[in-house]
Amino acid sequence: MPRTGHRNIRNQPRKASTPLGVHGMTLANAQHAAAKAFEVTGIDDALLEAEILLRHVLHLDRASYFAELNQPISEEEAEAYDQVVSRRLAREPSAYITGHREFFALDFRVTPDALIPRPETELLVEATRARIAGEDAPLIVDVGVGCGAIAVATAANQPNVTVIATDVSFPALALTRLNARLHNVDSRVACVQADLLSGLHGRFDVIVTNLPYVRTSDWETLEPEIREHEPRLALDGGPDGLSLIKRLLHQAAPFVEEGAEVYAEIGDDQGEEAIAHARTAMPWANVAVLPDLAGRDRMLVVKR
Ligand code: GLN
Repeated sequence: MPRTGHRNIRNQPRKASTPLGVHGMTLANAQHAAAKAFEVTGIDDALLEAEILLRHVLHLDRASYFAELNQPISEEEAEAYDQVVSRRLAREPSAYITGHREFFALDFRVTPDALIPRPETELLVEATRARIAGEDAPLIVDVGVGCGAIAVATAANQPNVTVIATDVSFPALALTRLNARLHNVDSRVACVQADLLSGLHGRFDVIVTNLPYVRTSDWETLEPEIREHEPRLALDGGPDGLSLIKRLLHQAAPFVEEGAEVYAEIGDDQGEEAIAHARTAMPWANVAVLPDLAGRDRMLVVKR
């Protein structure tokens, strides 16, 4: 994308001077000034965050940005950059500032109506893909779909799959619908407002879910990016973190009896408890916890 002609920042309010004071600097130096401010505030990956936000302001892809590193930043761009840098310094996640986050190599729109997709959740997409490979017309349910990361990534990677996407939150379902449309899978992702699986009937191949699993008592220990900006509805799993997953397991029992497999993301210290809940809900089922690439418990698997 060329740098000029895409800078829709003319209507930004003007300020006499910017706290960062990057006006007149090259893009590279402006990025470094922001990175330094991030570092001092304790924000990880400061240089990358500074680059992502500067490219957002300039509407530049990565290659074009690197080609222009030695160009000066204009006054308007400096002001716009200053505004997004201040938001980031107030610990707003950069995905909410830019409105985008990559998941499973796809660009997702994100808003504070849903959790920002995490890379570890790609494991659930992989498991789902492996389970439905070779099936004629697989039907899966993504419970608590949020922005649609699992549902849309699965549909986009398997042309014959249909996904039922449930959430209690209408705004989250609207976001899933938008992402499904942007990736041309809206005819195969059905958004349903539901409390977990309630009201659903049918024979499913997979029930996949990234429900809240943070213990309420751990809430205050979360990073401010999460605690102050992401929806608590998508994170707080009650006293032991597993109240929703436990309830889902009970609702899922008749579907698992019919052959569905459950893949549920859990916290790395919740493996034993999650297994115990699954055994209580389905004493006849095969239950396991699979680790992520770093060896941490990450996914509860329940099958007949
Ligand atoms: N992994 C998320 C975190 O970093 C929690 C996601 C969830 O509760 N489903 O807090």
